[in-house]
Amino acid sequence: LVSRKEKSEDTVINVNGELIGSGAPSFVFGPCAVESYEQVAAVAASIQEKGLKLIRGGAYKPRTSPYDFQGLGLEGLKILKQVSNEYGLGVITEIVTPADLDTALDYIDVIQIGARNMQNFELLKAAGSTNKPVLLKRGLAATIDEFIHAAEYIMSKGNENIILCERGIRTYEKATRNTLDISAVPILKQETHLPVMVDVTHSTGRRDLLLPCAKAAIAIGADGVMAEVHPDPSVALSDQQQQMDIPTFDAFYEEVLKFMKQYEVRA
Ligand code: PEP
Ligand code: MN
Repeated sequence: LVSRKEKSEDTVINVNGELIGSGAPSFVFGPCAVESYEQVAAVAASIQEKGLKLIRGGAYKPRTSPYDFQGLGLEGLKILKQVSNEYGLGVITEIVTPADLDTALDYIDVIQIGARNMQNFELLKAAGSTNKPVLLKRGLAATIDEFIHAAEYIMSKGNENIILCERGIRTYEKATRNTLDISAVPILKQETHLPVMVDVTHSTGRRDLLLPCAKAAIAIGADGVMAEVHPDPSVALSDQQQQMDIPTFDAFYEEVLKFMKQYEVRA
């Protein structure tokens, strides 16, 4: 169902007025994790000021260590909802278990399925049975074929609004947290009719690579870019190394817009 052979036109997904997959890149910014109302609101204000429509932030965090911050859970979803109402932003947040899905639907606009759950087939089927768009991230070591099949699980349950997100894969390379597979973007766009985004934060794990990788994503035809922003990354409860502070975010976005103008990318 996700195959380009089944449907030749691009799927366009409307989230809070933002048309994802329409040919102009969409942007998803926000903190790694929801930590407090004030923290999310500070980032939301900066997103709203740029005229952007979407915010991300994790309430359920899949962490490598069980002793690391696991997220605020339902309290985090409530913070996201409040900020969404106050700043007029659509919320994209990760859900890690089918058990949380029903409750979460009242608080969020897009269900994110994270890299670690790309082949959690019960979660894929449960998300496929909802009427909310799903942002599906590529697994840490998933082939493109496995990624496409994971999207197929969602669509097989009737949900056609799926955004694919390349977020880097694990290779022998240690200079970056993961290896951004930029060629996955045009392959996924050829093979499927779904919008394809690039998460420059988790793919690189390096603040200095966010801008060049965002430019590469846009240049290669990605439908959007995701990146993490935190009011003070030095005290962030997760991903301190890679989140942008707000002045860095402002400069980053300005450079991205300049790049798009220079190369006449539709804004
Ligand atoms: C995230 O986006 O918050 C996240 C945990 O990313 P990934 O699933 O790609 O590691
Ligand atoms: Mn993160």
